[in-house]
Amino acid sequence: MSLFVYHQNQLYVEQVPVTHLAERFGTPCYVYSRASLENNWRAFDDAFGSHPHRICYSVKALSNIAILDLLAKMGSGFDVVSQGEWERVLVAGGAPHKIVFSGVGKTCSEIEHALEVGIACFNIESLDELARLETIAAKRGAIAPFAIRVNPHIHPPETHPGLITALKESKFGVPCDEAWKLLKRAQGNPHLKLCGLACHIGSQITELAPFLEAFDKIIRLADKAEKEGIHLEHLDCGGGVGVSYQKENVFSPAFYVETLLKKLSPRPYTIVLEPGRRVAASCGILLTRVEYLKTTTAHRFAVVDAGMNDFIRPALYSAWHDIIEVVRSSARKRAHYDIVGPVCESTDCFGKNRLLSIREGDLLAILSVGAYGFTMSSNYNSRRRPPEILVDGKKIYEIRAREEWNDLWAKERMTVPGF
Ligand SMILES: *Cc1c(COP(=O)(O)O)cnc(C)c1O
Repeated sequence: MSLFVYHQNQLYVEQVPVTHLAERFGTPCYVYSRASLENNWRAFDDAFGSHPHRICYSVKALSNIAILDLLAKMGSGFDVVSQGEWERVLVAGGAPHKIVFSGVGKTCSEIEHALEVGIACFNIESLDELARLETIAAKRGAIAPFAIRVNPHIHPPETHPGLITALKESKFGVPCDEAWKLLKRAQGNPHLKLCGLACHIGSQITELAPFLEAFDKIIRLADKAEKEGIHLEHLDCGGGVGVSYQKENVFSPAFYVETLLKKLSPRPYTIVLEPGRRVAASCGILLTRVEYLKTTTAHRFAVVDAGMNDFIRPALYSAWHDIIEVVRSSARKRAHYDIVGPVCESTDCFGKNRLLSIREGDLLAILSVGAYGFTMSSNYNSRRRPPEILVDGKKIYEIRAREEWNDLWAKERMTVPGF
């Protein structure tokens, strides 16, 4: 069920007309539906039934503390890739013992701090990182919980090259044979506690096969470990579950989990999933207003007030996002437009050749921008980052205000003090 629907040709988010939000908060503006976010998260959680599991929402997809708070209240864990991300989780009331920490570049200071906070698990991506973790844990007299992030060397066929993380040449994880060496090395170490195996093969993957192939590989490794008396608690299948941006056929979390559990049976491991995109993408839209309709000999452009600094996926990944009128009118003629922003880059384009009936001043909504939308925004061209609004039924929350002009240079200093 979509929570973004038209009533009498007016787009609504849950029970709030979008035009009302644009008037109150201005444009560009991110708008999220609480019900959509929660439904998306629950689809993963419910799928497990009574099998032990943890859904560790991937914070980098959408990291506003109001969003993290809602997820924490539902019992979500969190997958983080930097100290900034777990600081957000803790501020939002998330539990440290449900945090898993991934990433190839964990610094000494991050490791120290994560041990102090008491996170659930370090997902280790190299031998040197494991050695570093051990040294720091030993110095603190601590026991560091860790899983080994395996790189299963899988090439998901259809996703964008920038979203693949499990190729032989990827920087992520360690190959299966090396993972085995790490397992052996940690065995009996008083400062390391092996908890499990992890993998994360990429993002926006719309076929099930690559996930199953990766899962097979970590199951085989777990079986081998078990035979040698190395006991694991969990298997972490990462995130990466794709969404339907342009009518892609996608599988449901229920079917995904059911298939994983069939493969797993009768092994008792807790399953960890780290979905980001599939939880957050469809819950958000970006509102923008048409500034100009500009016609050149080659093209018809709609110049809008959102730019690639606000939403970079089309420019960065050639991503396709649906763009729709906030108020539909059958009376007006439709035409094809390239929807472009004001930023001084030719890649500042949200969609090409889109059939729309629009005039100057009309509102457009760019759909499915909840994941990797606001979190990838910047101040490029000295543009203020847009506000984020959360709608819950009839209720409206401004969960992040539009930046002020002086936020743009708040951390900057003139060379001459007092100048
Ligand atoms: C980015 C990331 C995720 C989330 O990926 P999605 O495609 O958004 O589900 C999960 N785990 C790790 C380690 C990641 O880096």
